[in-house]
Amino acid sequence: MCPGLSVSERPDPTLSHHPTFGKFVSAWEGWATDEVVRRSGSSAGVLTAMSGWLIDTKQTGRVIGSARDQVKPSRTVPVIIMSREEALRSAGSRYAPVSNLPLLQSDAAENAFVGKPCEASAAKQLFDANEVPDESRPVLLSFFCAGTPSQAATEDLVRKLGVEVEQVSTLDYRGDGWPGEFRIGLNDGTNRSMSYHESWGGHLGRNLQWRCKLCVDGTGGHADIAVGDYWHADANGFPVFSDAEGTSAVIARTVRGERLLQEAAAAGVVRLRPLDLAKVAAVQPLQVTRKNTLLGRLIGRRLAGKSVPKYRGYFLFRLGMIDPFNSLKSIAGTYRRTVSRMGPNR
Ligand SMILES: Cc1cc2nc3c(=O)[nH]c(=O)nc-3n(C[C@H](O)[C@H](O)[C@H](O)COP(=O)(O)OP(=O)(O)OC[C@H]3O[C@@H](n4cnc5c(N)ncnc54)[C@H](O)[C@@H]3O)c2cc1C
Repeated sequence: MCPGLSVSERPDPTLSHHPTFGKFVSAWEGWATDEVVRRSGSSAGVLTAMSGWLIDTKQTGRVIGSARDQVKPSRTVPVIIMSREEALRSAGSRYAPVSNLPLLQSDAAENAFVGKPCEASAAKQLFDANEVPDESRPVLLSFFCAGTPSQAATEDLVRKLGVEVEQVSTLDYRGDGWPGEFRIGLNDGTNRSMSYHESWGGHLGRNLQWRCKLCVDGTGGHADIAVGDYWHADANGFPVFSDAEGTSAVIARTVRGERLLQEAAAAGVVRLRPLDLAKVAAVQPLQVTRKNTLLGRLIGRRLAGKSVPKYRGYFLFRLGMIDPFNSLKSIAGTYRRTVSRMGPNR
């Protein structure tokens, strides 16, 4: 069931399907109604608001998430969230490796889980393999993910700001606005920061773990609810990252996810407006291109003699044919990069 080896998506005629975003029940533009949560969250605090609400309403006793390590603030650790205040302390994306899954227990009454799409896939595949009934499964919340940068990428970024990780007392990748800045607080009480465009676009996003480049599901296809940035677009349709009030694309992927979103909206915890996923695709060009060219990258890697993960139910051939020229470029590029990394002895 390890998603590093194989990921499956079973067809479900009762659900809608989008070529990039996969199966869904409904799609929304959404944000947390509490201004502090909205501002602290990565895009609009929906995951934080849902986590706090699930605990407040006793639908779950605890939520598994990630947060800054208290001892080494440049690191990210999995955490157990037991209250709305703790959910708020875990708000925001952490663009670094962390494994939330080991804290997950299979008892639904005790757990909800926030994690990367690969973690949601692993959880679902594990519960499928163990034949855990749907109603006993933990609520799975996930987010759009372009890949996880290495821990070294965070540490390099700190050095780019002219300090060593030992001098850092707080480190946040985003939040305090949308998208917010990469911010570090130092032991001497001063702060340094870098724009999201520069920190993610110029650095972190260029240092992704290699397995992420072969990812088939960057949008939380196996979660009950998946959330991504619903970027504003410029006149040419490209996403703009200038500071604004956060707003998210919120996808209910299961009937349970849809019910929870509707209940949270009725309770005034999140605000939701119907959203056409075609509009989300237009401002998430990376997710679209990544999926459409994945077949090319898989073929390129196989031609170089390397193994690839097994994917079932993702229509990768059909997607690869949308832009055959780019698919061919991906085959050649991946082959060349893989062979050159293997060196003369292969
Ligand atoms: C590695 C990574 C890649 C991303 N790539 C994209 C992308 O391609 N497109 C896009 O639109 N958005 C991306 N995001 C950002 C995220 O998908 C959006 O901001 C999303 O809308 C979540 O917003 P929110 O405000 O509801 O989340 P919040 O309310 O801020 O909640 C975030 C939740 O995620 C958990 N979390 C944070 N970091 C991690 C982590 N590394 N592993 C597991 N759990 C974590 C926290 O514990 C918290 O519960 C990425 C985030 C990460 C961590």
